[in-house]
Amino acid sequence: MATVIQAMTMAGEPRTIPAGAIDDLRARLRGTLLQAGDPGYDEARLVWNGMIDRRPALIAQCAGMIDVARAVQFARSYDLLVAVRGGGHSFPGHSTCDGGLVIDLSPMRRIEVDPQARRARAEGGVRWGELDHATQEYGLAVTGGQVSHTGIAGLTLGGGMGWLMREHGLTVDNLLSADLVTADGTHLRANAEEHPDLFWALRGGGGNFGIVTEFEYRLHPVGPMLYGGLIGYPLAEAVNVFRDARDYLATAPEALSATLVLLRSPEGHPLAGVAVCYTGDPGAAEPAIAPLRRLDTPVMEQLGPMPYVAVQQMIDQIAAPGLRYYMRSNLLDRLDEETIGIAAEHFARCPSPQSIVIFVQMGGAVARVVPGATAFPHRQAAYSFTALSIWTDPNADGENVAWIRSLWADLRPKLPNAVYVNELTGDEGEARLRAAYGPAYERLAALKRQYDPANVFRLNQNIAPLA
Ligand SMILES: Cc1cc2nc3c(=O)[nH]c(=O)nc-3n(C[C@H](O)[C@H](O)[C@H](O)COP(=O)(O)OP(=O)(O)OC[C@H]3O[C@@H](n4cnc5c(N)ncnc54)[C@H](O)[C@@H]3O)c2cc1C
Repeated sequence: MATVIQAMTMAGEPRTIPAGAIDDLRARLRGTLLQAGDPGYDEARLVWNGMIDRRPALIAQCAGMIDVARAVQFARSYDLLVAVRGGGHSFPGHSTCDGGLVIDLSPMRRIEVDPQARRARAEGGVRWGELDHATQEYGLAVTGGQVSHTGIAGLTLGGGMGWLMREHGLTVDNLLSADLVTADGTHLRANAEEHPDLFWALRGGGGNFGIVTEFEYRLHPVGPMLYGGLIGYPLAEAVNVFRDARDYLATAPEALSATLVLLRSPEGHPLAGVAVCYTGDPGAAEPAIAPLRRLDTPVMEQLGPMPYVAVQQMIDQIAAPGLRYYMRSNLLDRLDEETIGIAAEHFARCPSPQSIVIFVQMGGAVARVVPGATAFPHRQAAYSFTALSIWTDPNADGENVAWIRSLWADLRPKLPNAVYVNELTGDEGEARLRAAYGPAYERLAALKRQYDPANVFRLNQNIAPLA
């Protein structure tokens, strides 16, 4: 039995930890502490993106807030590198690390719904599918991501876009309160009355300010049945189809949300797809969607009434955990024909049939929140563009990464420098990081100095504490 284990400090230096100290931490946790060689370690270190393969020294699978606090205190006492994991869906793999301590909230899945008050409390390891399931029991929901296996924690802290945002705002616009463990291992609650500055920072500032153990959300009546699905047109018509869809959607009711998507059908045909979700009166759904069915001659249509939870799972399989992913994303002031044309032209040459390009319609309630009211700065963006390379064979990494880079090289000069922090990758540099936080950056950096001066929470889209 080893008497020490090798770990890594925040500064990237080697650090040995006595086995006795690890035993002591293990005894003080209600959850499980894993190290290399333990049963379950190799499974526990996996994250959503199969391109990320890291080996933490320790993984603390926390059972509650006290475990999280003890893990933070332990990391501080050995100056350990810390990664924080909610749902594990960070594109660049920020929720794991080599040599450090992963504070893993995935066992923390408690959800409480108060249907009268239309509020829900959910622990930091909950996934969107679980929260939707619990809130839909009462015909309620909060804006959540479009893939049900994504974690609520990382998604909420960056802003939170989804099918409901045009009617009900971003996830952060519905966040009422957050319980968190701060960098010194203490517990506090942030909301409009308590630590309001911190509450502001949590609504768009990512995981920089502490580990949120519990979120409280405002809920809205949604479904349970609504109308949704996908209309597919030939890829060759992408420019006309997406342009006409954009023009219609600009004045369509906010109950109608659309995501324009370049994808391949199960038979392998490249498509310009219009994915829709209509949350309003079911009788009004078909007329609202009808113009989107006449943009050209559809080659496929899968539309109809479906439960909200099914809408939330429509693309779960496309983005399944463990596949290999690489991406670029940007926010658009407007969706113009040149952008669509470049994306479609590259998509026609995409090496993997699984890859997709999406344009998520924003606006509505997102744009009605005063800029600066939360730390999410991109209130006026019209669409969020994402090109996502998806493949399975590690030998094909080169060509699939190259495809994204080539598309991006052609597109980037045409686009504003604005990106959603949760869709920023790990290899885009400081200017893009600044573009993600936009005008919120300076205030965030000042709050970072106040709440995390040693930058303990650095494995994220990191805001360096203001000097
Ligand atoms: C398949 C897929 C679909 C997506 N769809 C959407 C979408 O529809 N809308 C949208 O807005 N975004 C979407 N995203 C982006 C998503 O918001 C981010 O990937 C988000 O970080 C995922 O959260 P997570 O908890 O699963 O991530 P994790 O990998 O666990 O964490 C990501 C970051 O958040 C921090 N963090 C995690 N948990 C906590 C916590 N409890 N307290 C403090 N910090 C924490 C981590 O340190 C890390 O920096 C999608 C991503 C994927 C992979």
